[in-house]
Amino acid sequence: MSPISRTIENTDLETIVGLAKRRGFVFQASEIYGGLGSTWDYGPLGVELKRNVKEMWWKSMVRDRDDIVGMDSAILQSPEVWKASGHIDSFTDPLVECGNCHRRYREDHVGDTCEHCGSSDFSEPRQFNLLFKTFMGPVEDEAAVIYLRPETAQGIFINYDNVQTTTRKRIPFGIAQIGKSFRNEVTPGNFIFRTREFEQMEMEYFCKPGSDEEWHRYWIEFSDNWFKKFGIRGEKLRVREHEADELPHYSKGSADVEYEFPWGWGELETISNRTDYDLKAHIEASGRDLSFFDDEAKERYVPFVVEPAMGADRSALAFMADAYDEEGEGKDKRTVLHFHPDIAPVAVAVLPLSRNEKLAPKAREVYDLVRAHFNAQFDDTQSIGRRYRRQDEIGTPLCVTVDFQTVEEDNAVTIRDRDSMEQIRVPIDGLRAALEDKLDAIREACQG
Ligand code: ATP
Repeated sequence: MSPISRTIENTDLETIVGLAKRRGFVFQASEIYGGLGSTWDYGPLGVELKRNVKEMWWKSMVRDRDDIVGMDSAILQSPEVWKASGHIDSFTDPLVECGNCHRRYREDHVGDTCEHCGSSDFSEPRQFNLLFKTFMGPVEDEAAVIYLRPETAQGIFINYDNVQTTTRKRIPFGIAQIGKSFRNEVTPGNFIFRTREFEQMEMEYFCKPGSDEEWHRYWIEFSDNWFKKFGIRGEKLRVREHEADELPHYSKGSADVEYEFPWGWGELETISNRTDYDLKAHIEASGRDLSFFDDEAKERYVPFVVEPAMGADRSALAFMADAYDEEGEGKDKRTVLHFHPDIAPVAVAVLPLSRNEKLAPKAREVYDLVRAHFNAQFDDTQSIGRRYRRQDEIGTPLCVTVDFQTVEEDNAVTIRDRDSMEQIRVPIDGLRAALEDKLDAIREACQG
């Protein structure tokens, strides 16, 4: 099968936001109360999409490898964690304030004039801390202040010893985690690209000092390939090394995997060489020994850490934007999302030719057979043509149609391919194998 081509190269963000809302991928949060700025709720298809993104990441990182284990740490941790990690003192963005309307902007995001009022009278930059603060327990005083985690990584560092001793992993090994993080971003925006509550997929890879640069290169390549493997077009991805003045306080070197979003290049993932910064900071602040005795090298050291850190929401947006296409003219026009089968919210749709008593039992039987093995959807409303279009628009790779010939003659069904729109007839006995083969062919055609 040849790689899937697109009729349109790039779409605009409004189109994606409109489709996301219309088809139940993503809704404005608190919509019935007028909405809460830059917070979003995932609908029935969006939750499947994001879940698939996270599951494919978890599979590639944890299930398919011997050297990485998973964990799930608490969002609330002792404030000492954030003191030691540097987040309380230095997790800040420089802000400038418009002298006319007093709106604040991130210094690195602002143009020459205020987006709101057009004034060019900006203040000198001031540091603004991005941590979300709240109180633990009934008393709202300074002693009860607690923070929502701004990254999942620290939950891993503070459990390094627990995980290493219980799994008896030897260096090099990694710990992966997926979960919510919170940052009081000054300029959120671009739909689900930058929000104040978001999900991260982070993996901390503990390695021997001196091997860190090699592992850094390895994880940069791995990350870039991961997006291509799941269907993002190679020409829409690039790796960008950070300049020295962009590096976070903990990093010896960082590179971003970027995607060309409708508004331009944006970061999907950062792969950082965090050195021994975090473990040493926690050793010093907690007094616990987090060093490792390497029995091969017969030496004790504090491991270095290489971290691929990816956003689940941003990735879901990139998968949607990249899959989007409009094909054909007039009545043949269709919107189609060319999702990779492992990313698509629905893998197989089962569609009886029409809503009819004669077809219904067979169609349900086929649906039960299909849903036992694939993420499936059943739809018997409206004309078959419209249902194909609806499945194309949500990116369902395959549709299975049950018709009168199925019940009256051959006990066979039609499989329709989303990308080529070709149809083949297969006996129900061989349906599962035929669907597996077809999905494999689409997986291959989706390689970016
Ligand atoms: P940016 O510069 O875009 O604000 P960052 O460099 O601060 O992001 P990291 O700290 O490297 O982000 O976090 C790792 C990943 O987490 C990012 O690549 C991104 O995918 C995701 N992420 C970070 N902040 C947000 C956010 N506010 N909204 C959605 N995803 C985010």
